[in-house]
This record gives sequence, structure tokens and C-alpha cells, in this order.
Amino acid sequence: MTAESFAKAEPPETIGIVGAGIVGLAHAWSAARRGHRVTVFERSPIASGASVRNFGMVWPIGQPSGEAFAIALRSRSCWLELRDQSEIWVNPCGSIHLAHREDEWAVLREFSRIGPDFGYSCELLSRAEVLARSPGANPDGLLGGLFSPMELCVDPRAVIRTMPGWLADRFGVSFQFQTAITRVEPGRARSADGRSWTFDRLIVCGGSDFETLFPDVFQHSGLRRCKLQMLKAAAQPDGWTLGPHLASGLTLRHYANFEVTESLTALKQRIATEAPELDQFGIHVMASQNQAGEIILGDSHEYDDAIAPFDKAVIDDLMLRELRQVIQLPDWSITERWHGIYAKNAAAPVFEAEPMPGVSIRTGTGGSGMTMSFGLAEHSWETTRS
Ligand SMILES: Cc1cc2nc3c(=O)[nH]c(=O)nc-3n(C[C@H](O)[C@H](O)[C@H](O)COP(=O)(O)OP(=O)(O)OC[C@H]3O[C@@H](n4cnc5c(N)ncnc54)[C@H](O)[C@@H]3O)c2cc1C
Repeated sequence: MTAESFAKAEPPETIGIVGAGIVGLAHAWSAARRGHRVTVFERSPIASGASVRNFGMVWPIGQPSGEAFAIALRSRSCWLELRDQSEIWVNPCGSIHLAHREDEWAVLREFSRIGPDFGYSCELLSRAEVLARSPGANPDGLLGGLFSPMELCVDPRAVIRTMPGWLADRFGVSFQFQTAITRVEPGRARSADGRSWTFDRLIVCGGSDFETLFPDVFQHSGLRRCKLQMLKAAAQPDGWTLGPHLASGLTLRHYANFEVTESLTALKQRIATEAPELDQFGIHVMASQNQAGEIILGDSHEYDDAIAPFDKAVIDDLMLRELRQVIQLPDWSITERWHGIYAKNAAAPVFEAEPMPGVSIRTGTGGSGMTMSFGLAEHSWETTRS
């Protein structure tokens, strides 16, 4: 459906959105293409939360079958639409889960048999087929892999920097950067410097900030914060390409889709016994490549009280140890290290609350905000509109 036909379908309203991370931008796009007049508030000069710190993996295969998976696929369509309508780079690279151990291979074989019944399109690859598709797979001990064509690669830093300009040009969305919203009342938002704006509807997409707006709602929300450490390897020489996103056997215990396999239990038990330090820091390893040829590597998971302002060298060392076992790069020079923190809602793909009339909260997309936000925003708009 085009922006014009959405506009005719509903009377235009004024919509305020707090937060210019991917959740805020997704809601801005959904509202603007329905013809509404949208203003986005972002306290930083450019959003610098979880949405610029991730792998840029649009990862439908990680979602459990059913509604979440359907929303991920809808998001995927939105990303491709965005690519076609803007200068934003989106690479339909797909993904390969690698198996270097027999128990990992058992999970992949089982999932390749039952996954299609749940709607996943995936293909079991022999060792030779993996190596033909990805020069990044480490051949040492490689048993095979699972290819999925659904995954996309985006460059989160570029998306968050350029999508506001596209929304402004294409739909007239207004952006108020360096504007912290410190108070919300029905129909009104106030900034720290005393300005105020009136709206028909306000959507708070503040990521892991649980303190500034509606702290009482967040206190009882069940939302958790999660910290992830990440690394970036240099742009690879001579135009070397990774091919599909790569995920290790460790990743099989991380995403909900593989929970349908019986063989996963043995894999989890082996890792708990053989390498408890990986469970301790929630480490599984993955790699994506941005359009500059750099390789984004990660990640770890530390929750709530375990989150320190300082990064742990031991986590970086463990991630690199595991990464080197499963992938190979021409240049392993680490050029950047950082961490990101996201809000996670365990009960659903997003946390939704309506703390006062005309005001909605949308956050808690966990490790799947790049994958889910566009689909969630479309779904949210359709189901909350009266
Ligand atoms: C290291 C890491 C790797 C990840 N990898 C992936 C991946 O590959 N694929 C995937 O699908 N997901 C991934 N995720 C998850 C994804 O990044 C998040 O789910 C998503 O970015 C959350 O988006 P958000 O808009 O809710 O939060 P944020 O990006 O944190 O944005 C919230 C914004 O709101 C602003 N804000 C807050 N309060 C106010 C206020 N009062 N006034 C004004 N502005 C305010 C903040 O400044 C911030 O810019 C990853 C996350 C991390 C941390």
C-alpha cells in the first residue's frame, strides 16, 4: 500500500515519538505513511543507543514460529521496500549456521527436517557446499551448515544516521534532535529546556531508559536490561566478502527457533560441562559484514545487576577464541570494541503499555529490534488504532 492510499484511509493526526532509535524510526515511518504529521524527539545529536551498536542482522530465522516469525518476515519486506525507496544499503545475504561438532550437526540436521513444517525455508549444506558459499567458514573440523535465505544485512550506523533525512524528505517528518522529553501528559510533551508540544498521540520509544519517563510503569514491567560486548575487524583486503552472515554452533542455544529440536539438549549440556565460562557470560558468536567490508563480531549477554560500565577483557578473549574456531578472516585486526545495552521483554517481542490516554510505550525488543521493529510498528498501528 502506498503512502497516499494510507493517507486517504484515516484522518491525519499529529503524532509525537520519543526516541530516534530503530523502534522510534519504525513507528515514525508507519505513522507517516498513513498520512499523519509526525515529530520525533531524540535527546542526542544522533541516536546512539542499541540501534547503532548492533550487528545489522535482520534475522527472521531466530524467531519462534507463529506470530513473531510472521512479524519478522513482514519487517524483512519493509527493509526491502526501504532499500528500493531510499539510498539505504540492504544486503539480502542470508545466513549460515555452522557445525563444527557432532551435536551441532545433529541439531542442524534435525532442524532442516522439521523447520520447513514451521515455515522456515532452510537448506542443509555439506562441508563442501558451505565452503563454496562462504570463504569465511573455517574448514578445520567443519561438518556442514544450515543455509537460510531470509536474513538481511544492514549497516545500523548508516541506517540511524540517514533514515531521519529520508523520512523528512519523503514524508515531511520533523526531527527535534538534542531534545530530551522529560514530562508527558495526555496530548502534551515537555522538554528539559521548558518547551512543549501538543499531539493527538504520543509514542515513547526510549529503549533502555527506564528512568526519565514513566519510571513507575517500568518498575513493574518485568523488563530487563542486557549488556552485549562487540568487536569490529578491519575492512577486509582485496574486496574479500564473508558471504552470508555466519553463526556458530553456540548460537543454536541462543535463538528460540531451535528449541523445537530434541537434539539441542545434548548440545547445551556439552557446553555447560565443557565451557561453563561461555554460559556464564552468555557468549555465542556471529559475524556480519558491512558495506565497507568491515566484519562485526560478537557477542555476550550480561543482565541487570551484572552490568558494569566497564567492559571485560576476558569476554573479548573468549569471543575471539570461539570465533577463530569457526570462522576465518584474511585480516583479524580489531579496530573497534564497544558494548550496547538493550531492554528485553521476555514475554513478547515488544513491551507495550498505554500509561495515559493517547500515550503508548513501545520498547523491550531485546536482541531482535533490527529484525522486528518495522513489522511490530505496522502491527501495532493496525491493532491499536480505533
Ligand atoms: C550489541 C547489540 C547487538 C545487537 N544485534 C542485533 C542484530 O544484529 N539484529 C537485531 O535484530 N537486533 C540486534 N540488537 C537489538 C537491537 O539493537 C535493539 O532491539 C534495538 O536497537 C532497540 O531499539 P530502540 O529504538 O528500542 O532503542 P535505542 O536504539 O536505544 O533507542 C532509544 C532512543 O531513545 C532516546 N531517548 C530515550 N529517552 C529519551 C527521552 N526522554 N527524550 C528523548 N530521547 C530519548 C535515546 O537517546 C535513544 O536514542 C542488538 C543489540 C545490541 C546492544
